[in-house]
Amino acid sequence: MRIGAHMSAAGGFENAIKGGSGIDCEAVQMFVKSNRSWGARAVKDEEFGTFKSTRSANPGISSIFCHGTYLVNLAAEDKEILAKSIACFELEYDLCTKLGLDFLVFHPGAPKKMGLEKGIAQVAASLNAIAKKFPKSPVKILLENTAGQGSTIGRAWPELRQIIDKLEDTKRFGLCFDTCHAFSAGHDIRTEKAYQKTMKAVDDEIGIDRVLAFHLNDSEHEFGTNHDRHAHIGEGQIGTEGFRWLVNDPRFKDHPGTIETPDEEKFPQDLERLKGLRT
Ligand SMILES: [Zn+2]
Ligand SMILES: [Zn+2]
Repeated sequence: MRIGAHMSAAGGFENAIKGGSGIDCEAVQMFVKSNRSWGARAVKDEEFGTFKSTRSANPGISSIFCHGTYLVNLAAEDKEILAKSIACFELEYDLCTKLGLDFLVFHPGAPKKMGLEKGIAQVAASLNAIAKKFPKSPVKILLENTAGQGSTIGRAWPELRQIIDKLEDTKRFGLCFDTCHAFSAGHDIRTEKAYQKTMKAVDDEIGIDRVLAFHLNDSEHEFGTNHDRHAHIGEGQIGTEGFRWLVNDPRFKDHPGTIETPDEEKFPQDLERLKGLRT
């Protein structure tokens, strides 16, 4: 696995690459706009060129991808929130395309009272409409599995499978597997046996080929509690050893895996622990 981190793009997109390179990241995840607001700052055309030349100058980082805005909820029951979510997603997808990023990772959403079935249908319909608006974008859209807090879609593999089944141009979509979310949602990875069982379920339900990226986070909360609180590697309930099978899985040899742990100061320690598991 190509191990890296979620890096800040404050002050310029290229700063995510520079920051990642500074701590020896082999992959970088970033936001392309403020993750807590609907709109984006004005972006100048030359910023895309600066980003791309910085990327070429840092070949050690093999994959760079985006995490979507947290506000986006394609399963929103409120029509105004849904319209804002789609507009925000499109804004983000356009930026990802112009920056030449590999993926846009997003959380499928929370349908609340509307219910799972309608929520799943609405997420798929929204994704189909977005993909059609950008027919030539090579940026893959990755659904992320969730811890299962509240009404969020994505705690169980069949929920994600049902979205994928409704997508038209399926090759443009994939899955980002978050270790903390999976663990918290009741998919164990702490032993080789548990890890293989979880990955077999992903393969049976979704197809292992659809998994294109990983979020490598330990979990503050215990197994199966549906709480989403990331911990530094080895300081949570999964434990350092729990990542051994994943980072050495030959199926994911060149896949990017980024940490999204709470304290940036401790990123080097997390990266060192993960890289130290590779054989
Ligand atoms: Zn994540
Ligand atoms: Zn999370």
